[in-house]
Amino acid sequence: MQAPSLGGVSVPRGDGSTVIRLRHGSSLNDFADKIDANPASLVTVLFHLGEMATATQSLDEDTFGTLAAELGYVVEMVSAEEEDKELLGSFDIDLDAELEGESDEDLAARPPVVTVMGHVDHGKTKLLDAIRQTDVVAGEAGGITQHIGAYQVRTTHEGNDRAITFIDTPGHEAFTAMRARGAQVTDIAILVVAADDGVMPQTIEALNHAQAANVPIVVAVNKVDKEGANPAKIRQQLTEYNLVAEEYGGDTMFVDVSAKQNLGIDSLLEAVLLTADAALDLRANPDKDARGVAIEANLDKGRGAVATVLVQSGTLQVGDAVVAGTAYGRVRAMFDEHGENVTEAGPSRPVQVLGLTSVPSAGDTFIVAPDDRTARQIAEKREAAERAALLAKRRKRISLEDFTQALALGKVETLNLVIKGDVSGAVEALEDALLKIDVGEEVDLRVIHRGVGAITQNDVNLATVDNAIIIGFNVKFAERVEELADREGVDVRFYSVIYQAIDDVEAALKGMLKPEYEEVQLGTAEVREVFRSSKFGNIAGSIVRSGEIRRNTKARVLRGGKVIGDNLTIESLKRFKDDATEVREGYECGIGLGSYNDLQVEDVIETWELREKPRS
Ligand code: GDP
Repeated sequence: MQAPSLGGVSVPRGDGSTVIRLRHGSSLNDFADKIDANPASLVTVLFHLGEMATATQSLDEDTFGTLAAELGYVVEMVSAEEEDKELLGSFDIDLDAELEGESDEDLAARPPVVTVMGHVDHGKTKLLDAIRQTDVVAGEAGGITQHIGAYQVRTTHEGNDRAITFIDTPGHEAFTAMRARGAQVTDIAILVVAADDGVMPQTIEALNHAQAANVPIVVAVNKVDKEGANPAKIRQQLTEYNLVAEEYGGDTMFVDVSAKQNLGIDSLLEAVLLTADAALDLRANPDKDARGVAIEANLDKGRGAVATVLVQSGTLQVGDAVVAGTAYGRVRAMFDEHGENVTEAGPSRPVQVLGLTSVPSAGDTFIVAPDDRTARQIAEKREAAERAALLAKRRKRISLEDFTQALALGKVETLNLVIKGDVSGAVEALEDALLKIDVGEEVDLRVIHRGVGAITQNDVNLATVDNAIIIGFNVKFAERVEELADREGVDVRFYSVIYQAIDDVEAALKGMLKPEYEEVQLGTAEVREVFRSSKFGNIAGSIVRSGEIRRNTKARVLRGGKVIGDNLTIESLKRFKDDATEVREGYECGIGLGSYNDLQVEDVIETWELREKPRS
């Protein structure tokens, strides 16, 4: 059905419920394709709705929504995950179908994957260290465990040799950031609570995140060696959050530990395995191409892109063609957490992988592709999709009307950030935390670029163009980049503690908030005589009664205490025949208010200006 539309153009209309599915980063061209319309007419319709866009520009969901509603369609944006599924499907890779098709014989038990969470300073890092040290294998090999983002320990449980995998980035930030990207790697969460401190805000946050993800919790009551430690109180406090200890009739295991004195670590590992066996059915098919998640990645000077991958199913082998997010390559070598070469890695095994062409992001899915060419094509298509989605985000999401208004009110303010860090996990965690800062609606925070490695010329250039601040987390300038940043006046800040970065950005945002102004009176003058001048308008012969009268300041006229003229300007000011810039209290002067002529003897002229009010 063709019907006239806004702007007089003709566009095929929907019936109000016709669904149009669009990918993120689509343009009016794509929309026009779906409804068999002329893209130029959609440009016109959109313009009449107060938005300007070209036919090829990527638009966001809201814009499409407005346009679709006008034309009688409903827009459904294909989610990034769905889109990726479709993309993989076009290469004959269907991960869901693959999992569903697996029978009992295909599946073998796999170790649980554990994340340690809890309040700051309650001992997460120390606990991860203590657990690392219990590892018998590491002891035998004499190998020092290296930080690769995850490690596996072995322990004897009910006479069996069992393995447990630990994610080596403590805290729920990384956990949440990964989950936000659709990657659920954690099977069990260890919630660390210091027995001398009790349940704290981040304890509750961590607990909420774990419960929201349906991840069973084992509570490690830490620091029991300390004076004033009260493990019973922790059990008591946590009952309020539905974590009831077994000894109180609940089903959550609480284990008293001292990470510092290595007490109770074995019992904690035991509790993890008991919980896993009771609550979860952890099995995976080891006999297929590997599927997993990149949990950490960085660029190494000598070795190139290095990614730690947690294999979730299948077995990863040296020589496999792989793709992780937009990175691809062939597995050149693999290392375990002791720095030992390994040739294959099965389910729940974390390994460091060399051979990717670029650095993937934490949370990227990692899959083995049938061949090199397929791996490359998947990566390239993903990159194109990402770029399109980014472009859509960068376009100002504001209508012409809003825009002028917002500008006039000084409402549009954006703080752009470039984040660089030593490992992708930290970058993601930082970005995630920064975007959560609540600064009200007046200011926007946008991360325009993030990445792993030193701060490069490219970062500075980006910051120059988009007027951004660069945040470096545990990184430095690349060679000769510091001078460039200086020259361009780009603000670059370095941090090694996430919270400091967050604090600073929060402060910067507060400083950037549009200042509030208050009116301050500058002076008053009483009109003694009115001189009529055809050329300059009326001039008020006055005497300054308080403060001073300054030329070009704002003024109002009061008669009998009432304002009769406002928003005026002292356009001329004279002392006798001479122009004056200011006249002080007690002196006479001639004041001209431009075209405002309603002046009488005894009127009061008051001058004022707006001064910035300091923020509390
Ligand atoms: P995180 O912020 O949760 O990672 O906490 P850390 O592991 O960095 O530990 C914070 C502080 O508590 C450090 O000074 C540790 O040495 C100390 N600590 C951790 N575990 C214990 C413990 O079991 N007993 C005692 N006394 N101190 C501990």
